[in-house]
Amino acid sequence: SNEEAAAKAAAVDADSGAPTIFDKIIAKEIPASIVYEDEKVLAFRDISPQAPVHVLVIPKLRGGLTQLGKAEPRHVEILGQLLYAAKIVAEKEGILDGFRVVINNGPDACQSVYHLHLHILGGRQMKWPPG
Ligand code: IMP
Repeated sequence: SNEEAAAKAAAVDADSGAPTIFDKIIAKEIPASIVYEDEKVLAFRDISPQAPVHVLVIPKLRGGLTQLGKAEPRHVEILGQLLYAAKIVAEKEGILDGFRVVINNGPDACQSVYHLHLHILGGRQMKWPPG
């Protein structure tokens, strides 16, 4: 569809490892609507929400982890912390009865920001399969 083509075109094709807009959000250089924060992770509302609740959870230290497909054994702890933060966010947002956690990995999945992030979506009936 046209929508799919546009999403793919908007996605970044190369994982350059360069700083992303999320670094500026972590540094509080640009504003974000922060939902949850601890030592290791930051959760903030997506600027283009795809559901009534749409929060991104990111590691504060990217540590080379631009995308899940580049995860290494040293990332196991932060991966667990991100997933647990997703549960905290879902609880805070009152969507424990139904929420979805999404990671877009690479161009074919329309990843657009190369700093690992979990999408937490909820507040409406989710469809399956996702697009
Ligand atoms: P991806 O397509 O899985 O890489 O998701 C990147 C997400 O970041 C998209 O859903 C964007 O809407 C979101 N996004 C991009 N820039 C910002 C921002 O400055 N603040 C909040 N969300 C953003």
